[in-house]
Amino acid sequence: MKKDVVIVGGGCIGLMSAYCLQKSGRSVTVIEKGDITNGTSFGNAGLLSAFKKAPLSAPGAITDTIKLMLKGESPASVHPTLNLHLYKWLLKFAASSTEARLRRTLALFERYGQVSLDMYQSMVEDDGIDFHFRKDGLLMIYTEQATFDAKAAHCNDPKAYEILSKEKTKEYMPILNDKVIGSILLKENGHIDPGEMMLAVKKYLEEKGVEFLLNEEVERLEFEGSKVSKIRTSKDVYEAETFILSTGADDKLARQAKNKFMMTPAKGYSLTFKMDDALKPKTTSLFADLFIAMTPRRDTVRMTSKLELGTTNPSIVKKQIDSMNKNLAQYTNDFERRDVVEWSGFRPLTPNDIPILGFDENYENLVHATGLGWLGITFAPSIGKIINDVITVDKKNETNADILLFSSFFQG
Ligand SMILES: Cc1cc2nc3c(=O)[nH]c(=O)nc-3n(C[C@H](O)[C@H](O)[C@H](O)COP(=O)(O)OP(=O)(O)OC[C@H]3O[C@@H](n4cnc5c(N)ncnc54)[C@H](O)[C@@H]3O)c2cc1C
Repeated sequence: MKKDVVIVGGGCIGLMSAYCLQKSGRSVTVIEKGDITNGTSFGNAGLLSAFKKAPLSAPGAITDTIKLMLKGESPASVHPTLNLHLYKWLLKFAASSTEARLRRTLALFERYGQVSLDMYQSMVEDDGIDFHFRKDGLLMIYTEQATFDAKAAHCNDPKAYEILSKEKTKEYMPILNDKVIGSILLKENGHIDPGEMMLAVKKYLEEKGVEFLLNEEVERLEFEGSKVSKIRTSKDVYEAETFILSTGADDKLARQAKNKFMMTPAKGYSLTFKMDDALKPKTTSLFADLFIAMTPRRDTVRMTSKLELGTTNPSIVKKQIDSMNKNLAQYTNDFERRDVVEWSGFRPLTPNDIPILGFDENYENLVHATGLGWLGITFAPSIGKIINDVITVDKKNETNADILLFSSFFQG
């Protein structure tokens, strides 16, 4: 039987699209090649960091990275590759790092970040979906006086910022040593436990009748005229009114529909461990000069870092884990970590922090929802809402204001 909406990919973007479409009364099937517990949406830091936080493609990003590379502390690296697409991506990244774009991107981040925060809150409070969700700010910790002073000079709004001394910063993160300069609390941000959120939302959706086909990979799209007629998976063949591709950094299926999106996989790592409660960070914290995040969760703490381009190797490389630990150790006292779980995953990164959203330009019943880069968890609910709106209300990209503003189909 022909299905209504088939979503390929059960990461946070696929699940939030399912959540919004189900609420609109659509019948939804999610097809996921894994079991949703090991992908990028599961192992990330869980920061909800849309407010007052510069995009990756901010002016100065490249010089700052080069400075860190020279100090041996850079979280970013580019593997030598013959893949021309990556070099085009890097050129576009450099061209996007302008003041004009920065102002625009910050405004878009706040617009969609607020929608997402409100939706996460409503999921917890109104739908009774149980996951760790806190709106208690993001602590930006500085280890360089110059970057701290430069940022603090612009933090005049007491609703948005609190500037903290070294001693006050240590109250938030007791493991810090005296090399830390100070911190700035970006008060409007928050965090979740992304894995808990994914499992709880999946359970809620199943109870509402959403169908999950797990451990089933979509291998081929088939076309008839201007439509996707069916998809072939490792187990079966399905027809549907509408197909959504939310396959994260894996663009294999999008390419079958003749797309070559300006997106690249950006590998990152997380370490999740238990530590003494008294030493745990009080809120989610980001070492601004090192790109290392530490997020407190119910029973554990998660540390994340690294941004590797030019690799699709999924294995956990010990050198990268050692480098994360070495960089953190410079600014912390020794502390015991128990039951450490190492993880790596790929961000679907566009060069200008603008995602790929909306109807395909060649096939009228195919919708794309990817390219959320380092902020997929931050924006997932608002992306689900946009995808639902364009499918059920606007029915085309050109009449959906959010797609016009926040999709690389229009803002490339
Ligand atoms: C180290 C690290 C830290 C991060 N920290 C944060 C953070 O603090 N805050 C934040 O907002 N974001 C963060 N991110 C980014 C965030 O995790 C991603 O933007 C987000 O998870 C992307 O979600 P997605 O649904 O697009 O992709 P994914 O989570 O990758 O989901 C795509 C799914 O599609 C499935 N799939 C792919 N191809 C097929 C196929 N052919 N058939 C069936 N299934 C398929 C995959 O198995 C996968 O489950 C971080 C990322 C990393 C790597």
